[in-house]
Amino acid sequence: MILPDATLGVLGGGQLGRMFTLAARKMGYKVIVLDPDPLSPGGAIANEHLQCEYSDTEAINYLARHCAAVTTEFENVPVASLHALETQCVVRPGATAVLWAQDRIREKTFIRNFDMATAPFHAVRDPAELDVALTQIELPALLKTAELGYDGKGQQLVTDAAQAHAAFSEMGGVPCVLEQRVKLKKELSVLLARSCSGEFAMYPLAENIHENGILDMSIVPARTSAEIAERAMEMAQTLAELLSYCGVMAVEFFLTHDDELLINEIAPRPHNSGHYTLDACLTDQFEQQVRALCELPLGDSRLLSPVVMINLLGDLWQNGLPAWDALFRYPNTKLHLYGKREARPGRKMGHCNLLATEVDDALKIADEIRQVFTDVKKVSYA
Ligand code: AMP
Repeated sequence: MILPDATLGVLGGGQLGRMFTLAARKMGYKVIVLDPDPLSPGGAIANEHLQCEYSDTEAINYLARHCAAVTTEFENVPVASLHALETQCVVRPGATAVLWAQDRIREKTFIRNFDMATAPFHAVRDPAELDVALTQIELPALLKTAELGYDGKGQQLVTDAAQAHAAFSEMGGVPCVLEQRVKLKKELSVLLARSCSGEFAMYPLAENIHENGILDMSIVPARTSAEIAERAMEMAQTLAELLSYCGVMAVEFFLTHDDELLINEIAPRPHNSGHYTLDACLTDQFEQQVRALCELPLGDSRLLSPVVMINLLGDLWQNGLPAWDALFRYPNTKLHLYGKREARPGRKMGHCNLLATEVDDALKIADEIRQVFTDVKKVSYA
């Protein structure tokens, strides 16, 4: 076990790195954040902020020398850096799981090979392969870059072959997947933690609403049958076992109108749809990340209250500060801001957890809060 007062490292100091840092420091660990951004939200509260590129060998070696264990907040870490770290210190989750989630082609193929369903897709590495994909995948479809896509970035909706070719060249001809646009009944996600010795802590199924490809709201517990929740949990557990996974992991699902569960994505780290755990669970996802990393027993992941998490995007700041005073009037509302200075449209600035005895009541509060934000905007436009 790596016990409090030890130093932990995290690759990436965005909001996920920041909330990991908060959890670790609360538990008495020291944290070094590696992030090139001088205004990194995680770096701002770490014991040390290495303001260097993720490929910087010296910085990676420094991290390995000074940390008992290192984790990551995102999957797009250079392979060489992960391998260099692994030869010198504990890295969890390991490079294999992180690398596997870096590339949509690899990820989706892996899922298929283990008899789990994804949306129909075809790999596209050149224009000829795109022509083949267009004969196999029903349109409309999404052309998604295999690497570096998130929150709907790096993807385009295509409705005919000419548009697909134009999108492929616009994306610079990088490897992509052509994926059928599925008619979704719901989007769901499973969050879990797995210890290195194979124990699981499972969180309840979350129901996720996206706007323009970005998570807008998570509703927990999800409004689905127990059978669907069980099936999703089993699939997520199987994937974690197959990867000998150690750490916190999220699996995003599409639920079709035939109640089929398609796996959309796997995140080898805490996830936006798990932010509700910060206020609604006995052990939140970031404490669980610390526990798995340090080989402490996993914490009790039980849900203490129904909850709705709403994301606060930079758009809310377009007319000045959002109406926080109105939000604070709801006593069961918990605000989390990430300390980002610049509020750009679509940028995740914070989130808010709304707790209530029933999910429907939390949803009503969510509606009221959104209305307040909108009304305030209208006033300042007038
Ligand atoms: P992604 O970045 O691939 O997770 O996509 C972001 C969001 O876009 C998803 O959460 C869905 O709301 C939507 N989306 C992505 N792929 C599909 C698809 N194949 N069919 C329908 N909606 C999709």
